[in-house]
Amino acid sequence: MHNQYELTQHNSFALPAICPAFYQPKTLSELEDIVPHLSSPFYILGEGSNTLFTEQATTTILQPNFKGITVKENDDFVLLSAKCGENWHELVKYCVENNYHGIENLALIPGSVGASPVQNIGAYGTELADVIDHVSWYEFDTKTLKTLDQSACQFAYRDSIFKNSLANKGFIVEVTLRLSKQWQANLTYRGLDTLPVDVSAKEVFQKVIDIRQSKLPAPDKLPNAGSFFKNPVVEIKCFNSLKEQYPDMPAYPQKDGRIKLAAGWLIEKSGLKGLRKGNVGVDKTQALVLVNYGSKDGQDIVQLAKHVQEHVLAKFDIFLQPEVRLLSSKGLIQLTQSK
Ligand SMILES: Cc1cc2nc3c(=O)[nH]c(=O)nc-3n(C[C@H](O)[C@H](O)[C@H](O)COP(=O)(O)OP(=O)(O)OC[C@H]3O[C@@H](n4cnc5c(N)ncnc54)[C@H](O)[C@@H]3O)c2cc1C
Repeated sequence: MHNQYELTQHNSFALPAICPAFYQPKTLSELEDIVPHLSSPFYILGEGSNTLFTEQATTTILQPNFKGITVKENDDFVLLSAKCGENWHELVKYCVENNYHGIENLALIPGSVGASPVQNIGAYGTELADVIDHVSWYEFDTKTLKTLDQSACQFAYRDSIFKNSLANKGFIVEVTLRLSKQWQANLTYRGLDTLPVDVSAKEVFQKVIDIRQSKLPAPDKLPNAGSFFKNPVVEIKCFNSLKEQYPDMPAYPQKDGRIKLAAGWLIEKSGLKGLRKGNVGVDKTQALVLVNYGSKDGQDIVQLAKHVQEHVLAKFDIFLQPEVRLLSSKGLIQLTQSK
């Protein structure tokens, strides 16, 4: 355990922040020694690529760093289990190298395996929910390991039970994927649809990396946390009236009849793409990404995010919800719509 631990290296916005106590258990028995000392508020941190430290002080941090990958297979599928402290992209690479197919579309998403179910990571037409078999969950109250199958995880767009009723009640120890041996490339997404149907998983993996590198700022060069806001999902009535005014507006029909809009497009049309405010800004290439040009204060990003929300609300009457988790010294905070 470290006291007054500095967290710049532990968040992709590269913001300096200090936590009163930092625990990094590597095994269950190390964790069990820690749990009795873990006082609220505390935050479970992976690699900090979806977390904004809004103040220079944070809560106590628990960063489980269990490592290991195990594989079981039969004629039909591969069951691949990875511990929470493994890096997600390294896992995708490992799968591609070993001919385990199904997560190549999720290449280059930063962060840990442990965080991947929390917001049901997704990209290029694939979501974690499509390939997950179960999650091993350590419950703080009972000090036991539980298994949550795919449906128990309550996955939805950038959402799961781990962000809701199970938040801070335990943590994800291990994620098990079920990868079918009857693999077919998922090329539905724009950018991948030009690939031939007999493309290999390795080629899809490389294509996804190339597209991502051309579109998204790399956090080690320009600190950011990927998409800052979720794509809003609106009722058909709202969509129809917007479509009349903006016929070129991108839209993605959902299974429940609602329509998902592109938050980046809404921000761009609000005239905010490339906006710079002091040491922070809206990325010049991808308006959904807020970037840190050198600020040492998370409030700069918070104020920018509010500015974006206000402008998009004024123009489209849509309130953008952050995808990024906002951590203050008292716990998670929300950027809610003022009445
Ligand atoms: C450049 C860039 C591009 C990105 N692109 C995408 C993308 O295409 N698709 C996408 O979905 N996301 C994307 N993201 C967001 C980010 O990569 C994912 O959300 C990732 O899963 C975060 O992992 P992390 O370990 O860094 O999480 P953290 O930021 O450390 O934590 C995120 C959340 O998970 C919780 N958590 C972490 N570990 C555990 C655990 N073991 N048990 C329980 N809860 C835990 C935390 O409490 C927090 O609520 C992008 C981010 C960046 C910087």
